[in-house]
Amino acid sequence: MGAAIQIDPSTGRKVFRTRAAKASEKIAGKGYTIVTDKTLTTLPPPPPGAAFNAEEQGRYRAFKEARQGAADYMAMEGQFARYLEDVYSEPPVARDALDDECDVLVIGAGFGALLLWYRLMQAGFTDVRFCEKGGDVGGTWYWNRYPGIACDVESYSYLPLLEEMGHIPSVKFASGFEILEYCQTMAERFGFYDRCLFHTTVKETIWDEPSGRWIVKTDRGDAMRARFVVLANGILTTPRLARINGMETFKGSSFHTSRWNYDVDLKGKRVGIIGTGATAVQVVPEIAKVVKELYVFQRTPSSIDVRDQRATTAEEYATWPHEPNWAVNRRERHALISAGRSALQANDDFLSGKVEAFKERKQHERKLSPEEMITAQLNTNFRIMEQIRSRVDSIVKDPKTAAALKPYYTYGCKRPTFHDEYLPTFNLPHVHLVDTAPSGVKEINQRGVVHDGVEYQLDVLIYATGFEWMGTGSFNMIRGREGRTLKEKWETEGTKTFLGIHSRGFPNLLIMNGPQGGGGQFNFTRVSEMHAKYVVWALETVQARKARTIDVTREAEDEYAEHCAQMDLLSAPLRDCISYYNGDGRARPGSLAYYGGGERWHNRRVAAQQAMTPYVFDAAQVETQEPRPQERSEAV
Ligand code: NAP
Repeated sequence: MGAAIQIDPSTGRKVFRTRAAKASEKIAGKGYTIVTDKTLTTLPPPPPGAAFNAEEQGRYRAFKEARQGAADYMAMEGQFARYLEDVYSEPPVARDALDDECDVLVIGAGFGALLLWYRLMQAGFTDVRFCEKGGDVGGTWYWNRYPGIACDVESYSYLPLLEEMGHIPSVKFASGFEILEYCQTMAERFGFYDRCLFHTTVKETIWDEPSGRWIVKTDRGDAMRARFVVLANGILTTPRLARINGMETFKGSSFHTSRWNYDVDLKGKRVGIIGTGATAVQVVPEIAKVVKELYVFQRTPSSIDVRDQRATTAEEYATWPHEPNWAVNRRERHALISAGRSALQANDDFLSGKVEAFKERKQHERKLSPEEMITAQLNTNFRIMEQIRSRVDSIVKDPKTAAALKPYYTYGCKRPTFHDEYLPTFNLPHVHLVDTAPSGVKEINQRGVVHDGVEYQLDVLIYATGFEWMGTGSFNMIRGREGRTLKEKWETEGTKTFLGIHSRGFPNLLIMNGPQGGGGQFNFTRVSEMHAKYVVWALETVQARKARTIDVTREAEDEYAEHCAQMDLLSAPLRDCISYYNGDGRARPGSLAYYGGGERWHNRRVAAQQAMTPYVFDAAQVETQEPRPQERSEAV
């Protein structure tokens, strides 16, 4: 078998040793600095009388229309495939190919997979195997290790299983490096490493009807069989490049932020970064500290909210471990704060349960209609955006740069960002904002970027151009009962799932955190928790029924797709801009994230688990005691 695959003599089961070593000690960093200047950590008040009137609505519309059709991305294929190489680990550990069978095969080794493994273990499922493209656990936190990386959801609510692990993060917004280390500790503690095949990319997952198994083929020559396959490979997994003329001719160093090349020393270099989304907002202040010249090529400004990073206090370290379920309760309270604005003053008291509400709820004289509710939300939203825009003016000294940094769209329409050092960075003499609105960078040559007839000569070019949203890179390689791939099914019928977890014709396939999957929440750990528990319920139900497979009915799937579309359309005015959330303005309503809210998703889940009508089990159904549906309280 070799050293990488051994047999555990007590169980007779295979144990894997495929975790790769870290490629270099240079791969290290920290996230948000603690900023003590209160003027940088507080939003200015909204201007008096700020109202989302016809003039302002027109300005938002013009901002959007100018950018219509500008987004143009491409996959990292052919000569661009090198941008996908794993720069974080030593080469893959050599091992034999596998052609055996397991009960549950999970694709991914990030938060979703780690959480799922913990829940499966608790439920007594042990014949579980994981396939992971990277050389170690962490998923997002494995691939994204750029300078400045941190989580925008407060860590006390974001990191899973904090009580079980007896852990409290060191700061409110942990750095990506701290989160990665936490993932590694979880994996060690839960015996995850023994079960994971690292540097193993699943290439084909094909349903075999006669055997009732999925045949899973990988780039390591494996052809494994599994009763159940779970996709836990993330929602922003596949990096994408902007398609720009001449990009292949650039002679300097270049890489994508999700494969940060620490062998390229930025000290004293002329560096360009394309894109100003959540990633660039974290990268820019960090690299500005070392480079000689920094050019930030922006098409659309992000909304830069306050961060207000702080260290965990001695009191918190001392008291939290004695409060039962402190982290779970906190995560539930956190879910009530919209768009993750948990840095705002007073929120800590609410999150820790010291006060009952995080803001005074406005009492309306009568119940508002959904449309009136949206109008009220748009007005509140406008005032927040006015504060965000005032903040730019109050920090950035050059008026032209400040004007370009101001976003005109609803808060949350594009992914909100949070930083207390990003805006001041543009006051530094060696940092230059290059406003490429509305079309973006269109030309690169061997020396650098060309825009509006000006050539920006660069030593290093960094693509902060993001990821495919709700694209795991695997929907096109999973072939179900009808011989179609998931991608083919969704391209012809529109995205069709039940609860975002099942898709008809793909029996025993469970999708965590996929399209329509009850997401639409800023804290994805909460979604992963509920999906992991649901997967365990589905497996237990199949077992209890002595069934072979679980699938869903066409009616259930059609009705759910219609519901997702309606929820999307209802709240669409709040997302009326060009954003990856709406497929850069091209997605069919209801085809990507779920916009019904966590509560509605729960109600649908509970109703389905009680009625059982959406599900189809093949093989004779035997009268048995079924596992009860998850309680609402244990759903997350
Ligand atoms: P992103 O939000 O998709 O940003 C891509 C950027 O590239 C956008 O600013 C886009 O401009 C720009 N762009 C594309 N083509 C361009 C061109 N030709 N010229 C100029 N600019 C161009 O990607 P991201 O920043 O990597 O973030 C992705 C997601 O990852 C985030 O939204 C978030 O969900 C997650 N993330 C989370 C954290 C965290 O929790 N701390 C940190 C980083 C990322 P337009 O806006 O005009 O399209």
